[in-house]
Amino acid sequence: MSKYPHLEQPLDLGFTTIRNRFLMGSIHTNLEETDKNSEKRAAFYGERARGGVGLIVTGGVSPNFVGGVKPFAEAMNAKSTAKKHKIITDNVHKEGGKIVMQILHAGRYAYSPWAVAPSLTKSPISPFRAWPLLDFFVRDTINDYGKAAALAQEAGYDGVEIMGSEGYLINQFLALHTNKRTDKWGGSFENRMRFPLEIVRAVRKYCGNNFIIVYRISLIDLINDGSTWDEVVLLAKELQKAGVNIINSGIGWHEARIPTIATSVPRAAFVPLTARLKKELSIPIVASNRINTPEVAEKIVANGEADMISMARPFLADPDFVNKAFADKSDEINTCIACNQACLDFTFKNKISTCLVNPRAGHETELNFPPTSNKKKIAVVGAGPAGLAFATHAAERGHQVSLFDAEAQIGGQFNLAKLIPGKEEFYETLRYFSKRIEITGVNLQLNKRVTAEDLKDFDEVVLATGIVPRKLGVEGASHPKVLSYLDVLKGKAQVGKKVAVIGAGGIGFDVAEFITHEGESTALNPQEWMKEWGVQENYSVMGGIKGIKPVVHPSPREVTMFQRTAGKVGAKLGKTTGWIHRATLAKKKVKMIDGVEYIKIDDMGLHYKDKDKKEQVLACDHIIVCAGQLSLKDLQEPLVALGKKVHIIGGADVAAELDARRAIEQASKLAATI
Ligand code: FAD
Ligand code: NAP
Ligand code: SF4
Repeated sequence: MSKYPHLEQPLDLGFTTIRNRFLMGSIHTNLEETDKNSEKRAAFYGERARGGVGLIVTGGVSPNFVGGVKPFAEAMNAKSTAKKHKIITDNVHKEGGKIVMQILHAGRYAYSPWAVAPSLTKSPISPFRAWPLLDFFVRDTINDYGKAAALAQEAGYDGVEIMGSEGYLINQFLALHTNKRTDKWGGSFENRMRFPLEIVRAVRKYCGNNFIIVYRISLIDLINDGSTWDEVVLLAKELQKAGVNIINSGIGWHEARIPTIATSVPRAAFVPLTARLKKELSIPIVASNRINTPEVAEKIVANGEADMISMARPFLADPDFVNKAFADKSDEINTCIACNQACLDFTFKNKISTCLVNPRAGHETELNFPPTSNKKKIAVVGAGPAGLAFATHAAERGHQVSLFDAEAQIGGQFNLAKLIPGKEEFYETLRYFSKRIEITGVNLQLNKRVTAEDLKDFDEVVLATGIVPRKLGVEGASHPKVLSYLDVLKGKAQVGKKVAVIGAGGIGFDVAEFITHEGESTALNPQEWMKEWGVQENYSVMGGIKGIKPVVHPSPREVTMFQRTAGKVGAKLGKTTGWIHRATLAKKKVKMIDGVEYIKIDDMGLHYKDKDKKEQVLACDHIIVCAGQLSLKDLQEPLVALGKKVHIIGGADVAAELDARRAIEQASKLAATI
């Protein structure tokens, strides 16, 4: 037994047994649409099964054409489709895992002109109006779920997950927010819940009793006219009666304006709701959302708060998560930092979902690190994300790698990122790389600012020296009021009460959050976090939020952010997280001014022209410059002069629009081929 005995317990469903308490939650990878032969999906899921996951839930597959999340999204409505899925289920079974196919009908969230819903509505997150389903089509849709499940069974799936949360079609029937019908599918809750109950009955009818039905229930809708807690309990009990085997948890509709999985959401924040529902049921229930370590997962099961743990992104970050945990090697787990940058943000950009800390995810057939037959002596300069990823992968392949950094610790700019309130997860990446350095035998030399001369004995040199902050090119740029973000974050500068932040990119926003925050980060305190976002802890109002006023912790400073580009401030922040940063700063009354032209800085403060070309001055104590970055590659020329083969990666290569995702991906690709 490992340190996680409760997670190691098999889960007996009577007709079948799941080998442990880990469920891989559904993630739409976009492989559903691009990988027509299912080979990449088979490799993706097979690797997670090999890594020890007990039960895998696939990305959502529609039961029919109109239910797809976008035009021509995959639907399980033909034998030929089922046949293509066989390779996926075979691969998972070969590794001792079980797999269920998620059936997801997007309803009014379908990004297509033929979207349907219980009533004529338009969701705030889709440009398309959804058409109301006539009674006949409601019945037809229920039957489509049954037929899709039967095809999934034919494809070798152990069961299906019926997606009843996150605001998709089933939720749209359940909530008064979207269900305005007056027939037997609308009105009373008994009528509104008829749709999911009939779906479960249809699946049972088509697939028999020896077939897993997981139902993902929306524990809390986080929208004004969402379900009440009593409705959630009643639905769960009726689902149990109708033959569901496992209840999985979903939190919040996609259109909710409360974060549910971002890195600033406290770990396991919503588990108390799962625990509360568990008391009402006899079938197993799964806890979900922001659970990313085996320690947290074990505690939940040991405390009797849930029977299984769902993680989705953590298995993108590390497919071997379960095996490492059960081998008591949890310090070797590559932890998901909940950034959404390469998974969800990529899904919305129609790119294959992958992972910032593991660019192999979704690319298992292409990006590999086989042992090298041509061992080289390689110097890596810079132990930021790029240098760390390259050095550890290259050493894993058998190269002799030395990694140098001028600082006393590894991590580069991640040592600043981790200081931002709500970004505490970034510590985990540094812990992971420290361990990887130890395991792969990289020769780490800290406090060592290297020169070209120091590197003359190496076969090849990889420059991962990062960036320098861009200086402001206006009159008064060296006035004592002007501070660099580096000095502010490192605590080397005292920041006054009235502050201007120049630059509204990722760093400008992070700095604004840093200086408007006091005390413990709410990401570490679930109760405070709930109050901050206006979520009712005892959940007695509709959707868990109706009429609840968020508690605001005022900023200790008056902050104004500036950008030269006209338009939404912070428009380039991540699709799934930018709105959270903007909402957080709005609560702190941070002003955001776009379309400016900087004139000068003097004792009065910051002089600028506004959008109408009128001259303005912001009287302030300090101006913090977050105006982007420039590549640092001062060693390139002298190394080339010494005749060295030089590779440049990360910020040292291209500073514009650099983030850790690009740095790690570029580094990993180089390490795979060097
Ligand atoms: P760096 O991280 O800059 O590392 C370069 C390293 O090289 C440094 O450690 C430096 O000491 C060393 N070095 C330089 N010259 C020498 C020399 N001659 N000898 C020895 N060592 C040398 N990115 C994201 O993707 N998501 C985020 O949420 C995010 N948040 C951020 C928040 C903040 C506050 C900051 C500052 C950055 C954030 N970033 C984020 C950006 C991300 O950290 C960078 O994109 C990433 O660190 C770049 O990696 P790198 O390895 O190229 O360079
Ligand atoms: P950035 O995102 O490129 O933003 C730079 C900001 O400075 C922009 O607002 C830009 O706006 C302004 N600017 C550019 N040149 C300027 C100049 N010459 N004078 C004045 N203002 C200027 O860069 P960053 O904020 O430094 O962040 C660095 C990288 O780290 C980014 O690529 C980012 O993705 C990454 N990061 C990501 C996150 C995250 O949460 N995902 C967080 C932090 C950092 P105008 O040109 O309109 O003025
Ligand atoms: Fe987690 Fe970020 Fe990777 Fe997504 S990209 S799986 S959120 S670490």
